[in-house]
Amino acid sequence: MKIFDGFNELLFPEEGICLFCGSEGEDIKNYICNYCRDNMEYLNREVDLGSPYLGKAVYSLFYNEFIREKIYLYKYENYGYLYKPLGEILIKTIYEKNLTENIDIITYVPIHRRRKAIRGYNQSELIAKYVSKSLDIPLSREKLIRVKNTKPQNKLNRYDRIKNIEGVFKIVDSIEFENKEILIIDDITTTGATIKECAKVLLEEGHAKKVDALAITSGMKL
Ligand SMILES: [Zn+2]
Repeated sequence: MKIFDGFNELLFPEEGICLFCGSEGEDIKNYICNYCRDNMEYLNREVDLGSPYLGKAVYSLFYNEFIREKIYLYKYENYGYLYKPLGEILIKTIYEKNLTENIDIITYVPIHRRRKAIRGYNQSELIAKYVSKSLDIPLSREKLIRVKNTKPQNKLNRYDRIKNIEGVFKIVDSIEFENKEILIIDDITTTGATIKECAKVLLEEGHAKKVDALAITSGMKL
């Protein structure tokens, strides 16, 4: 598994350094300094996405310029190591919302293998891996896959997003999910169309028992 292809791990010791802004100091906890922490607003909000396939859908932070920029750098500018502070944000929400109760497996929204080859990593997979390791809950990798390389959802309107995402995901090994309670991780949700489609496939093809979803933030207008 060459998960770190595409970006370099940090070449300096990470303890005592804020991975968001690079500052050093005593106040750094979970790779985030007080200044950056003050720029994040925790909502830990549960949203109703109107899907019969989805259990809880929760996101951690209010969508502001600070977190928008960090996620952008993480996804598109090769700041791959940001999976650590971003993972810590999710872990905080998981504890506060009691999301680990009964969770058997953690998984993530897959990207198409062609996009992964270009980017070098799947941003949600890295975060899910970090969360899985920290919480000691098994990670399911490459069993829920994306079979179509779609247009980015953020370029589309609500109707086209739903159309764009239909038939995009597939289960390659249903035994992995059968009768399991699954937590699926995404970086940012907007209409929730992607996460709803994943939940549908996990239940219908994967015969999962329950699917909860967790994202860092939501661009949704509420
Ligand atoms: Zn900072």
